[in-house]
Amino acid sequence: MDIALLFFILVGVVLLNQNPHIKFEEINNPVPTSTPDSTPTPTPTPTPKPLTFAEMNSLYGPCVRVPTLMYHRVQSKEAAVANKQEKISVFTDVFKSQMEYLKGKGYNTITMNDLINFFDAGIPVPAKSVLLTFDDGYQDFYTDAYPILSGLGFKSTVFIPTGLIQNPGYLTWDEISGMNGSVLFANHTWSHKSVATGETVMQKEILTADNQLSDHGLNSPKIFAYPYGPDSVPAENYLNSLNYKAAFTTQIGNILCKKQRLSLPRVRVGNSPLSNYGF
Ligand SMILES: [Zn+2]
Repeated sequence: MDIALLFFILVGVVLLNQNPHIKFEEINNPVPTSTPDSTPTPTPTPTPKPLTFAEMNSLYGPCVRVPTLMYHRVQSKEAAVANKQEKISVFTDVFKSQMEYLKGKGYNTITMNDLINFFDAGIPVPAKSVLLTFDDGYQDFYTDAYPILSGLGFKSTVFIPTGLIQNPGYLTWDEISGMNGSVLFANHTWSHKSVATGETVMQKEILTADNQLSDHGLNSPKIFAYPYGPDSVPAENYLNSLNYKAAFTTQIGNILCKKQRLSLPRVRVGNSPLSNYGF
């Protein structure tokens, strides 16, 4: 009996000692996981390649290379920072250097009539021509940009939301009249609404501004810029019916083509030297 009891005790001790050992091994033998499936090879999408001048000319021509510089506010850095308008401002001293750079490099600022004469009568545009455009009719065009432009004899176009004129921070009709001639004031809707919207609003926005410009003797030639950029086919058709000769988007490009005259690209300029923009 004693031997049998001793046997059970021994077996029990052995089992007790082995159990933790077995568990320990189980923990330390990781179950191999299958090799993760390889992620499927993505289908490459082609990067849209800009058309060459020759390709654009055959599709939409005749075309001309006229970089159309797009500015919004021109004000001192201090004012831009204080007003939290740095993103839409070119600082006045930078703007002055940019304009002087264009002059020094022999660029001409042409007028919208020059562009229309190219489209409609094939009258060539001189090499090294640019168009200067300023959107939104801010007061700083009068105080900061215009003195620099007129000092250099530069022509420009200001796109005004006519309903906002006379508001604080915007041009006044008197200032506009005073600058009219070397500056073309053109349609940028009545209340600065995108015209990629319902037909009624689109027509009201364009027509109200058209009438207000005409009332101030300013609407010739008729030129338009799309607020916020987006164009729409109904807006183009409507502009065409009102005898608009050109309309500008915020699409990037510097080739202006007759068949795209109501959807023309521009070059958005910031606070870098114009040499960074290919000038
Ligand atoms: Zn605008």
